[in-house]
Amino acid sequence: MSDFVSRRNAFRSAGLGALGLALSSVAGGAEAEMGETGEMASAPGKCALPELPYSYDGLEPAVSAELLRIHHDRHHAGYVAGLNSTLDRLAEARAAGDMSAIRSLSRDLAFHGSGHVLHSLYWRSMTPGGSSPPSGRLAAAVERDFGSYDAFRAQFTAAAGAVEGSGWALLAWEPMGGRLVVLQVENHQNLTIWGALPLLVCDVWEHAYYLQYQNRRADYVEAFRRLVDWPGAEERFGNAVG
Ligand code: MN
Repeated sequence: MSDFVSRRNAFRSAGLGALGLALSSVAGGAEAEMGETGEMASAPGKCALPELPYSYDGLEPAVSAELLRIHHDRHHAGYVAGLNSTLDRLAEARAAGDMSAIRSLSRDLAFHGSGHVLHSLYWRSMTPGGSSPPSGRLAAAVERDFGSYDAFRAQFTAAAGAVEGSGWALLAWEPMGGRLVVLQVENHQNLTIWGALPLLVCDVWEHAYYLQYQNRRADYVEAFRRLVDWPGAEERFGNAVG
């Protein structure tokens, strides 16, 4: 491993650490390949599908095993594959000196890259059985920046319910302003504030709930609320603010 690659992986570990994400396998063979468990081994510089932090039926009955399996193994895996493919195509474009597709490649990089990041956080935004509302430093920050936990909850729920089309609701730490914000993301990559670190993310793409909830998005968002892993969000908040 060259010094450059080893530095890059160190930076990548640091960045993921700020998001509270464990670094999945970055060593391995020359080609990304799906293992027997569904875990994707990856070549250096490639992204890998992280394993779920619980079993497929761990969130039942709120999120069925079938829904969770399809969402993780097909949808999230699709964004990982899309991101790796985009990185390959960008490398080919640079090697060929051909930037004619740069607009679509740049869009694909933002779309699949953001899809991979947000899904990796989504699995960790939930925990079997859920948890009590935040305590400690995160609770104090929620009160300061939203007025109260209930006011935050109302804003987050409204943002999740009102996404037009496909998107996400995020609780994020915005470091330049030094405040928590709720963001309403369209697709995976639009309507962000640069530098904001997501702490808690709710997927409201139809693929996240339609199989089980049909068009009752509000019921799914309420089920998500009951599954939230606040200690995990608290840990990410601690990493973000130092
Ligand atoms: Mn999704």
